Amino acid sequence: MIISIKLHATRAEIDAVCDRIREFGYKVHSIEGEERVVIGAVGVGDVTACLESLEAMPQVEKAVRISAPYKFVSREFRPGRSQIRANGVEIGGDEFVVMAGPCSVESEKQILDTADIVARHGAKFLRGGAFKPRTSPYDFQGMELEGLKLLRRAKERTGLGIITEVMSDGDVEMVAEYADILQIGARNMQNFALLKSLGKANRPVMLKRGLSSTVKELLMSAEYIVAHGNQNIILCERGIRTFETATRNTCDITSIAVLNELSHLPVILDPSHATGKRSLVPALSRAAVAIGADGLIVEVHPQPEKALSDGAQSLNPGQFASMMRELEPYVALWSKARTAEMAAV
Ligand code: PEP
Ligand code: MN
Repeated sequence: MIISIKLHATRAEIDAVCDRIREFGYKVHSIEGEERVVIGAVGVGDVTACLESLEAMPQVEKAVRISAPYKFVSREFRPGRSQIRANGVEIGGDEFVVMAGPCSVESEKQILDTADIVARHGAKFLRGGAFKPRTSPYDFQGMELEGLKLLRRAKERTGLGIITEVMSDGDVEMVAEYADILQIGARNMQNFALLKSLGKANRPVMLKRGLSSTVKELLMSAEYIVAHGNQNIILCERGIRTFETATRNTCDITSIAVLNELSHLPVILDPSHATGKRSLVPALSRAAVAIGADGLIVEVHPQPEKALSDGAQSLNPGQFASMMRELEPYVALWSKARTAEMAAV
C-alpha cells in the first residue's frame, strides 16, 4: 500500500498514520519530500481493512493498494510520467533529451572539444566517465578527481549539464559535487550499498540496466534508491547479454515500452553500449525515439580511433552531427505525440 498524506499535515498527524499502519502488521517506509509525505506500507496483513481505516483519517489524501513488488516506482503508484529536472532541463517531459560525450574523460582538450561539439548539435548533457569500471585491471581506469574537475570546466564553458559515473558508495558525495546526474553503471545495478547511499544524494540518478538483469530487477534497484530517500531516477536500457555475438550486447528495445507500462520513471537508451558498433548507433537511436524513450545517452569522441575506451562504438563529430540532423523529423513526431499525451492526462 502507498499512503499519500495531505499537504500541511502536522508531525503528530503523520505519526498517527504510521502507528495505524503498524497496528495492522505492516512495516512503514516513509518518504518525506520537501512538500509531500508519502508512506509505503510493506508486509502481510488485512489490506482491505487497513485501507478503509486509513482512508477514514482526515490527514490521509489517498491510500492505494499496489500489487507490484516495486511500489514507489510503479505506474500503479503514479499513473502519469514523472519528470526529473537537472541543470534546468526536464527529462520525462515534452523534450527528447540527448546526453553525449566520450566514454572516458581523457584530457582537457578532449573533453572541452567534445563538449563544444555536442552542445553545438543539440545535446543537453555532457557524459564522460572519470571513474571507469573496466573488465581488465590493466586498462585505463579513469582520471578520477582530475576528470571531474575537467567536466566542471566543460560545464562552465558550454552550460551543458554533467552526467558521470559513480562506482562506490564512498565516492557519492564527491561525485555529486561535480555531477548534475549520477550515473550508475550496468555492473553496479545491484550494488546495494551504493544504491542505499544514492538515496541520500541530492542529485538525480541514471540507473543502467545490469548486463544480465531482468526488467523487474532493474525496477527493484530503482525502488531501493527511492526507499532510501531519492525519487529522482532515470532508467537506462544499454543492452543485455544473450547468445548473439553480432553486437556487443543485445539491445532489448522492447524493455523501453515495457518499462513505460510498468513505471512512471523516464527511460532513455544507450545505443553505444547496446551495439558496440558506431555504424549501428543512428538506426538504434531512431528506434528509441519511435518507441517512446525520453532520450539518449551516446558516446562521441573527437578522434574515436585514439579513444582510451570504447572507441569502436563512439561516433566522431561529423557522425554525431548527421545523426542529430537525421533524428529531427522523428523527434518532431515524438514531440507531437508527447504533447498530446500530456494534454490528455
Ligand atoms: C559507460 O557508460 O561508459 C559504461 C561503462 O556503461 P555500462 O555501465 O552500461 O557498461
Ligand atoms: Mn563506455
